[in-house]
Amino acid sequence: MTVAALLAQRGLAVTVYEAQVPGGKLRRFQHAGLSFDTGPSLFTFPGVWRKVLSRLGERDPLDLRPLPGGLGVHHTPFGSVPLPVQEGHPLYLHWRRYVHEVSPLKPHVETLLTTPPRLHSAAFLRASSALGRVTFPHASAEGWLRSRRFPPALHHALAVHSLNAGVGPGQGSVLYALLPALMAGEVSRPASGMGALTDALLAFCAARGVTVFPETPVNDLRGLAHHDRIVSAVDPSRLARLLGRPVPVAPMTVSGVALYSRLPAHLVGLLPATSVITPSDYAQFASSLAARALPPDTLALVHADADLLQESRLALLLTAPASGQIYTVDHPWVRGQVKRVEETLGVSGLLTGEVLALTPKYFAQGGATGGAIYGRAWPAWRAGPFHPEPYRLSGRLWQVGTGVHPGGGLPAVLGGALIVDELMNRA
Ligand SMILES: Cc1cc2nc3c(=O)[nH]c(=O)nc-3n(C[C@H](O)[C@H](O)[C@H](O)COP(=O)(O)OP(=O)(O)OC[C@H]3O[C@@H](n4cnc5c(N)ncnc54)[C@H](O)[C@@H]3O)c2cc1C
Repeated sequence: MTVAALLAQRGLAVTVYEAQVPGGKLRRFQHAGLSFDTGPSLFTFPGVWRKVLSRLGERDPLDLRPLPGGLGVHHTPFGSVPLPVQEGHPLYLHWRRYVHEVSPLKPHVETLLTTPPRLHSAAFLRASSALGRVTFPHASAEGWLRSRRFPPALHHALAVHSLNAGVGPGQGSVLYALLPALMAGEVSRPASGMGALTDALLAFCAARGVTVFPETPVNDLRGLAHHDRIVSAVDPSRLARLLGRPVPVAPMTVSGVALYSRLPAHLVGLLPATSVITPSDYAQFASSLAARALPPDTLALVHADADLLQESRLALLLTAPASGQIYTVDHPWVRGQVKRVEETLGVSGLLTGEVLALTPKYFAQGGATGGAIYGRAWPAWRAGPFHPEPYRLSGRLWQVGTGVHPGGGLPAVLGGALIVDELMNRA
């Protein structure tokens, strides 16, 4: 949707073919009398979004609101850590040392998210070398964190953010250990929910004459022969199948079980906006996921949207292997993980009403193999800004989307659209 609006802004006639409904993983569901925006729940790197707006000449319709508590309270085996760590907390001085080292990288990371990765580009080289100066010589998030000798609770809380790459800290690139310092001060959500992003992009497309065909899957690229250029926004493995090319067997990033329900009345006002319950042992966690087995204690995120003026909602996201399976709310593993979350938060009856459950099978429907959220898992040195997938596959075929920018979530999807728009304009 983003690249469609950007190309239409340049005067091109653009058609979007969408197999289901626009929004993909970010989809609005009506359930049990409430509306839920599923998929992404944290809006980060707003500077990337501002660049999209500026290229479109649009004002921001999202009404982004800072999320109380930033990245949330991280419950680790070594104690609870709110990120950002507040003054007065025993870990504050360590957090300040971390932020002091990492936060100057913010503009550079934003550049890497929005600039074509070309070795002859001065902006790309400047940003990459700034990142390299902080990360060298470490290959993984875990290696870098160890070298900084943070107290165990802070180390453990920071390490969980390598899951933004869809892999454990031992495999995630150092960039992901830096994310909390880069994101913590600017975590937000549109006032009317994440679905506002899809609405905004649809409105930008409509204003530029983009034709959108919902429920129109592309099953054969030959059917698009009448278009001069094609931009694929599907996962690269899905595209390979459409092109009749073999799909390499490769390790995949994680999937999840996402549970949405009404926040029980007895918990309204009791839970922070975001709680993160970390796995107790990352090595065991990563090896379970790599073997497509259910980790004994998985990463869980709890979002409690406790706006007393509106209906309060709860989202509980459990990290699961990209197995393409269905794990319902009654599945013993799901029940066990919910119990662990309740015990950690010191509450009961977290999921009492009707629950909407999205599982790896659901995420696989329109996404990557097995429901992997970020597609294929790349080794650390090929992750983040070192895009492993080409933007241009042939003269007229380009690609965007989360699988092209591993582990970036919305900022990388939006940034990738800016990059491809720029490259297509130059081509
Ligand atoms: C539970 C969960 C929590 C997350 N949390 C965050 C977060 O807090 N912050 C963040 O930034 N990111 C988060 N993410 C990641 C973020 O949601 C994704 O990176 C992003 O939404 C992916 O966008 P995309 O357009 O690349 O892919 P998708 O959203 O998967 O879109 C692909 C689209 O292609 C369509 N399609 C597939 N095949 C065809 C075909 N043959 N023809 C036509 N159309 C087709 C699909 O229907 C779909 O609409 C989260 C993801 C999940 C699942």
